[in-house]
Order: sequence, then structure tokens, then C-alpha cells
Amino acid sequence: MLSGQNILVVDDDPTQILILSGYFHSLRAASVLEANSAKDALMVLKQPDQAVDLIVSDLMMPDMDGIELLRELRAVNYQGKLALISSLDQAMINSARKLGEMHGLNIIGTCRKPLRKASLDSVFLIPESPRGKFDVVPDMDVTAERIRSGLESGAFRPYYQPKVDIQQKRIVGAEALVRWCDPAAGVLSPADFLPVVESENLTNELTFDLMTSIFRDIVSWKHQGLNIKTSINVTAHEIAILEFPDIVGRLLRENDVLPTEIGIEITENAVVEFNTNSLEVLSRLRLMGMEIAIDDFGTGFANIKALKEFPYTELKIDQSFIRGMTKDPFCQETVRAAVTLGRQMNMRLLAEGIETIDEWEFVKQRGVDEAQGFLFAKPMPVESFVPFCLENDGVVELPSVGDNATASNGDSGQIAV
Ligand code: C2E
Ligand code: MG
Ligand code: MG
Repeated sequence: MLSGQNILVVDDDPTQILILSGYFHSLRAASVLEANSAKDALMVLKQPDQAVDLIVSDLMMPDMDGIELLRELRAVNYQGKLALISSLDQAMINSARKLGEMHGLNIIGTCRKPLRKASLDSVFLIPESPRGKFDVVPDMDVTAERIRSGLESGAFRPYYQPKVDIQQKRIVGAEALVRWCDPAAGVLSPADFLPVVESENLTNELTFDLMTSIFRDIVSWKHQGLNIKTSINVTAHEIAILEFPDIVGRLLRENDVLPTEIGIEITENAVVEFNTNSLEVLSRLRLMGMEIAIDDFGTGFANIKALKEFPYTELKIDQSFIRGMTKDPFCQETVRAAVTLGRQMNMRLLAEGIETIDEWEFVKQRGVDEAQGFLFAKPMPVESFVPFCLENDGVVELPSVGDNATASNGDSGQIAV
């Protein structure tokens, strides 16, 4: 755990500094000092009263490289921890590590660029992910066989959570979130089974099965007078399949749903894994008229260039920033930066995980367009979702400021009332 520690980040690339600095702030570091060269880093260390508990350094820098820095750190008798980061191959990073250890330095780990949250977590020992996604041990023994039979029996169903336009206070969209409705085990959340779905390569089956249910639900609620856009979560793996747009197109036609009624959500971390196939697939989906959102923005490590390579239509600010927003300056700063970036790139901005009226007011003042969260509704099955949206002409009722009660309807694991 790095909470309360002073960290010095050394890199000549300002984007990497920004990423690492954001990451360490999210781990509640006491301070994150930045140096854009090894020489600057040594200057920081020489400052009187400047305690540094951990240095995180790039290996390739113009004036003095990371290898020289290791020698200099020994010379100044640096006693803190050190982590090495580089885009060089693993063998080179291992040699640098060995050299550092021979200098008597306390090297706690190494990471290869491009930086990914999972690899940073494995070095910097976070006991839990910020949102605890996918780290729950399910009650049921989730196996590939059980998932297959669940797919055959139609046990995987979409639950829907409304997206609310902040200015109009009106429901304008829905996010479909998968639930496994097992007759014996009850309703399971994605965290209980998605890791097994992914490791057993069943993601495609699940997505296409779910899409069919979602498209049928859309047709049924359009008949009842509900006209909103629905978004579906997909993984980096699916986005890399060149036939993906053709299959989705066929499912849409078979069910009489237009691509413009659909959006897809991809997590920011998936953007990091994109290849040429992914860009082709996303471009085709966009040409078909679908919206494309970057989900969980702020938790991934996509650099600005990777984000600019594609015309995303929506940016969803991760709920971990919303949670701390009313008190924590770092979360406030991240929300502000997301709004600026979203505006520059002509994206609609959505705040995820709005639970209190104070959070609603905060994002409203920052110019965020839409909100999603337990303040309005938890994800619910279609039977509850449609009446919920049609009630009051889709306008949501909000508690007054200062009253921090959250919505009582629905539950991620229960049938909503
Ligand atoms: P996500 O796409 O970021 O979805 C938002 C998650 O936040 C949902 O969790 C939702 O129930 C929860 N949430 C919404 N508002 C609030 C709030 O105010 N407070 C709190 N504490 N939580 C809130 P859920 O349904 O458990 O889904 C977790 C993740 O699983 C999703 O995150 C998404 O990444 C993944 N997922 C869900 N359905 C699918 C799916 O059909 N396919 C794929 N590939 N992934 C899915
Ligand atoms: Mg999502
Ligand atoms: Mg999200």
C-alpha cells in the first residue's frame, strides 16, 4: 500500500507522468513529485527536508538514462524503494533490475510500457481494485459447463439502468447490464461470472445471446411508447473480431431494430488493447450509426492519442471519481479534466454512479450532460424498467439538496419494485 507515502515519478514523457501521477494519487499517496529527467530527480532528492519513499523511473531518458540514475542513486545513498518502467524488452528491464540490486537498491518491481492498471497493481500491491470489479467470490461454482447450460436455458438476461439528461431531468437512455438468473442460486452479478465467461472464451456467445434479448425488449418497449437509446457493454476481444459488425447488423435486421437505437460501451482499458482490427470494427459500427462510449473513464491508461484516433460519442466518467468528488481534490480535478477532454472531442459526458443529490449537483455545475446511478434507479428487469420510464413522462424525481437519500427501487441482484 502506498497510502501516505511520498513518491517521485521520473519520466521524460509528460503523458506517462500524468498517468502515473493520477494512479498514485488514486492510491492516496501523500505526495507525487514529478521530474522529467534523471538530473531533475537527483535535484529533488538533494533538497533538504524532501522525503522520498518510492522512486518510479523510466529507463530511457535523453540526458541521463535510468541505468546511470541507478548508479547516482547509490552515490547519494538513496534508502527508499525503486520501481523501473520502460518500453524496452523484458530482458533489458531484467538486466537493469539486476544492476540496481547489485548497487544495493531496494527494487520493488518493474513494469513494461504501455502501462496497464493490472501490471501497475501487481507491482504497487493494492489490496483491492478501486471499484472492486470482478473480485467477488461467487456462491455458485461457476464453470464453463454451467455457463453453457445457462445460455441454452436463457438464464442470462439484461437488466436495465436509466441514463438521465441532467438539464431536463428526463430518462434518455438505458444501459443493459447482464444478470445470470439461476433457478437455484438466484440472480448473479457480472462480477460473479464474467471472469469465467472470459477465461473460457464464451464472451461472444454471451454477447450475441444478450443482444437478441435486448433487441426484443427494445421492440416491445417501442410498442409501449418508450423511445430511448440502449447501450451494450462489449469487450476488447469482441471489438477485434472483423465479422463483429456483420453479426450485429444481422441481429439488428432480424429483430427490426435500427443501429441508431443502439450504443456500445467499451472500457478505457480496452482502448489500450486495440489493434488495427479494432479500429476497423469500431469505424464500421460507427458508420452503421451506432454510438460508441468510453466506459470507466479515468481508470484506464489510454493516452490522448489513442482516444483521438476514433470519434467516440460519449465519455463515461468512472464512479470511483464521482464517489470522492465532493471532498477529494484529485477526483474533482479528474472530473474537470474529463469534461474538458470530452468537450474538445465533441463527446457527450456522463457521470456514472451518482448516488446522492450532492453528487448530482456537483456534476451538473461542472457541465456534465447525463447521469446514471442509484439516486434514480438500480438496474432492473424489463418488466420493471418500462413502467419506471413511462411513469411521470420519463421525468425523474430528485430529493432536495442536503437530503442524501438514494433510490430504493431495484437492486443489482433483486427484482425492482
Ligand atoms: P459498467 O459498464 O461500468 O456498469 C456500471 C456498473 O455500476 C453496474 O454494475 C451498475 O449496476 C453499477 N452502478 C450503477 N450505478 C451505481 C451507483 O450509483 N452506485 C454503485 N455502487 N454502483 C452503480 P454491474 O451491473 O455489476 O456491472 C459491472 C460491470 O460488468 C459493468 O461495469 C461492465 O463492465 C460489466 N458488464 C455488465 N454487463 C455486461 C455485459 O453484458 N457484457 C460485458 N462484456 N460486460 C458487462
Ligand atoms: Mg458500461
Ligand atoms: Mg462504467
